[in-house]
Amino acid sequence: MHGDSIMDEYNETKKKLDSVSASFCLAKWYQVTLHLQNGNNHSCHHPNTHQPTLAELKADPSALHNTAFKKNIRKLMLKGVRPKECEYCWKIEDTPGEHYSDRHIKSNDAWAKPYFEEALKAGGKDNVNPKYLEVSFSNSCNFKCSYCLPHISSSWMKELKQFGNYDTQSAHHAYPREDKMPIQDSENNPYVKTFWEWWPSLYQDLKVLRITGGEPLLVPDTFKVLEYVATHPNKDLSLAINTNLGVDQKFVNKAVTSIKKILQSEHLKDITLYTSLDTWGPQAEYIRFGLNLELFKSNLFHVLDSIPDIKIAFMCTYNLLSVTEFRQFLEFILEIKNKYTNPKNPHESRIILDISYLKDPHFMCANLVDTNLLDSMKSDLNFMKANSDSFKNGKSIGFNDYELNKMERLVGFAAIGVEPNFKKMQLSDLYKFFSEYDRRRKTNFEKLFPRYLEMYYQGKSYVEEKLLSKQADIS
Ligand code: SF4
Repeated sequence: MHGDSIMDEYNETKKKLDSVSASFCLAKWYQVTLHLQNGNNHSCHHPNTHQPTLAELKADPSALHNTAFKKNIRKLMLKGVRPKECEYCWKIEDTPGEHYSDRHIKSNDAWAKPYFEEALKAGGKDNVNPKYLEVSFSNSCNFKCSYCLPHISSSWMKELKQFGNYDTQSAHHAYPREDKMPIQDSENNPYVKTFWEWWPSLYQDLKVLRITGGEPLLVPDTFKVLEYVATHPNKDLSLAINTNLGVDQKFVNKAVTSIKKILQSEHLKDITLYTSLDTWGPQAEYIRFGLNLELFKSNLFHVLDSIPDIKIAFMCTYNLLSVTEFRQFLEFILEIKNKYTNPKNPHESRIILDISYLKDPHFMCANLVDTNLLDSMKSDLNFMKANSDSFKNGKSIGFNDYELNKMERLVGFAAIGVEPNFKKMQLSDLYKFFSEYDRRRKTNFEKLFPRYLEMYYQGKSYVEEKLLSKQADIS
């Protein structure tokens, strides 16, 4: 059975990685996200980003990925030291029970696993071309999702320029940050320029190319890449395009035309469109500000109906506010999983669900849930199990093991909870952030999230307590 074999594969990869060291991860060599709008990069997408120096780039354009900083982290991994920047994985690996972290899952992927020996040979010294590239050319975006950042979303940047920073202890949304300021003039952006110098040699080694943003469908460089792919064969390549599917249909139509041209050229392996939803209903629109669920669905169905060969992956950044409407989201996924199947194989769905847990800002993390919300999460996990592929036994398409494993580990992460003082600080931030968010954006947390009100008001009382003790200190 497929479900069993993927778990066996993770286990085998885990053992192989551990034979080098308990912190060795192929993603540090072969996966990179390049934020060309400010020259930042990270491997993989979980650690914080960092920048190469312009001198490094002048010597070798691959320094967009092979920075001196990253090479040092690779050396640590080979020695068995856990780099702090990879705490996303260490948290999962330290959770009681058997869980596979992204270190195991990513290293098991087709873009990583075959290059195990090659990575060992390169060690911490040599430059390598990534096999999995995620690239963003600009921060232009029509959304300002609650957990997003100003250098990733121009709409967020605009709001912070107008109203100033949020008064939270978390510096997550802080603006401006010198090393992350987007270069607005793309034509004179040294990172974009270096990228196009590196591109022909880089392209031939790519197994996965993922275009991200901002909102990529609003950016001309996206279509330059798509045109290149349509005219340059790379039979091993899986192309992925991120989109919020919340743009005007004319941009979606432009993408549909480009994608069809690529598919007709038969120059690559496959294409997947990645989109995002974290829960359902007005609550989803609140979290991902700018989202209009009706427009989203209309764009989604338009793509699925126009391109029968395309797969759509839902990236779910599961956060504290995802919990209460999550079941409706799962029901929607289940419905379209069965409606949109592979034309060559009706047992395979074109819809994929990928649940990851939000790491930052902390005040939106799922590990702040109370018992009541945690019970809802467990119940959603049971719902997924009761509607899993193995349970349905081929009668209809359900959730697969990959999807179940992601939900299972999320529930495990949330169940651990946080230390009381830390929670106090986060609830204060939760209140400060969302009360101001409502004021600026004319939204209403209290109306949309009744099951969170106890936490919200607890946060409010902590803020007031602190204010009173400050006033007492002054007088
Ligand atoms: S965060 Fe995990 S998957 Fe990412 S590079 Fe670090 S160890 Fe690998």
